Amino acid sequence: MDSLPLGSDHTDGQKPSEYCAVVGYKGGGEALDSLLTSLKTLQHRGQESAGIAVFKSGSVQVHKGMGLVSEVFNPKYSDFSFLDGSRVGIGHTRYSTAGRKTVENAGPFVVSSSVGYIAISHNGEITNAEQLKESMKRRGATFQTTSDTEVMLMEISRDVNEFGIVNGIKQAMNRLKGAYSATLLINDRLFAIRDPHGFRPLVIGRLPDGYLVASESCAIDVLGGELLRDVMPGEVVEIREDGLHTLFVQASKSISHCMFEYVYFARPDSIIDGREVFDTRIELGRRLAREHPVDADLVIPVPDSGRSQALGYSMESGIPYNEGLIKNRFSERTFIMPTQEQRRNAVKVKLNAIKSTVKDKRVVLVDDSIVRGNTMKHIVDILRRAGAREIHVRIGSPEIIAPCYFGVDMKTKDQFIAAGRTTEEIRKEIGADSLGYVSIEGLVDAIGFPAESLCLGCLTGKYPVTIPGERHAAQSELENF
Ligand code: 5GP
Ligand code: MG
Repeated sequence: MDSLPLGSDHTDGQKPSEYCAVVGYKGGGEALDSLLTSLKTLQHRGQESAGIAVFKSGSVQVHKGMGLVSEVFNPKYSDFSFLDGSRVGIGHTRYSTAGRKTVENAGPFVVSSSVGYIAISHNGEITNAEQLKESMKRRGATFQTTSDTEVMLMEISRDVNEFGIVNGIKQAMNRLKGAYSATLLINDRLFAIRDPHGFRPLVIGRLPDGYLVASESCAIDVLGGELLRDVMPGEVVEIREDGLHTLFVQASKSISHCMFEYVYFARPDSIIDGREVFDTRIELGRRLAREHPVDADLVIPVPDSGRSQALGYSMESGIPYNEGLIKNRFSERTFIMPTQEQRRNAVKVKLNAIKSTVKDKRVVLVDDSIVRGNTMKHIVDILRRAGAREIHVRIGSPEIIAPCYFGVDMKTKDQFIAAGRTTEEIRKEIGADSLGYVSIEGLVDAIGFPAESLCLGCLTGKYPVTIPGERHAAQSELENF
């Protein structure tokens, strides 16, 4: 979504937000109903804004706003009944960061062009958006937002107008670099697009009354549908009432599925590129137990993100699993707050220890990831105060040391507690008795794809797409010769 100029200072509080959910519906039922239900199901992918665009009475109509899906689409506060009565549409939720919380940047984006209306919902990050924008500006184009999705839409719209739908999307995709999983509406026609690397997920399902394209398969389940397949990396597929029609598959040099979807971002009940997220997390926990065993009395998860990995650790080690921490269901999300101080205070509101579980116990504490380290430092502290005798922290992903340019709001190196520190230094910093991260090999094995098919940029600092000033993944292979 938002894109800052490459090489600009991605300071705290102005980080772009790229994680989002996209959906699309076409069928014989009420498009609005299926789009709303699927967006609510995918709310975890973005809580800042929500929007739906449908084709109706010869034009594309949009309703979007700031907030959760249930807030933006609440009949008490806004009238969106004008979306009723459509058979095709797309939807979007956007991930929140501080700053740039403007409704102009909310999806879906719509333009009216000589072929009619074109609307897009986009998840990912166009890495060359600024260059493309500059060159379009030189030719007289104007832009209304800071979003790279607008750049993507303008590129597609220009080429579709000139070369027709198939060749137009193809031409635009040749220029667009980076991560994009998108749903596209051209009048009443619905398309699903996934970049040639396949960074972000995108699936298609059959519903009782039509088809659903969605970022994650759990949305298809909730609508009583059946997961048909993933959109392939580089594929553009049209969803028609009579079925799926692949327009083309743009050849990719390499596939780079984001490992962080499996580690943290996606819902455990989703299946991404044929791999169930829950099962992957259990496997991560099992590997963690094998790589970093410890004598302890119980395994407790950091709710909710560490649950499946903690369960896997317990199953593999035989150490009993228990609830040792309670999460305030209504607390605000700490990760996105602009200052360290705010984040630290918010973490306090979020979690509390169950004293009877942890008192005098040797505890294995499992979470999915450590980014800045605020959460872990605080949890270790409250467990100590609740009387835990030993605290052994185990993390279901390797050390995050480098920025993500393809969709996670981790941008500056100095944010990462693991950057430039040894495991022992991190252990001291968070105050644990021991600390173990799953290895990169362990992660790759747990996901089950070859390492070359995964983007491990935030773990290695080597990226599958050229990023000015950063190392390219192919480069290291060449260096080995
Ligand atoms: P830290 O306090 O170390 O910065 O954050 C780590 C915690 O944030 C972990 O519990 C992890 O589940 C969660 N987390 C990791 N990545 C993200 C993200 O991209 N967004 C949000 N909201 N939370 C994240
Ligand atoms: Mg968490």
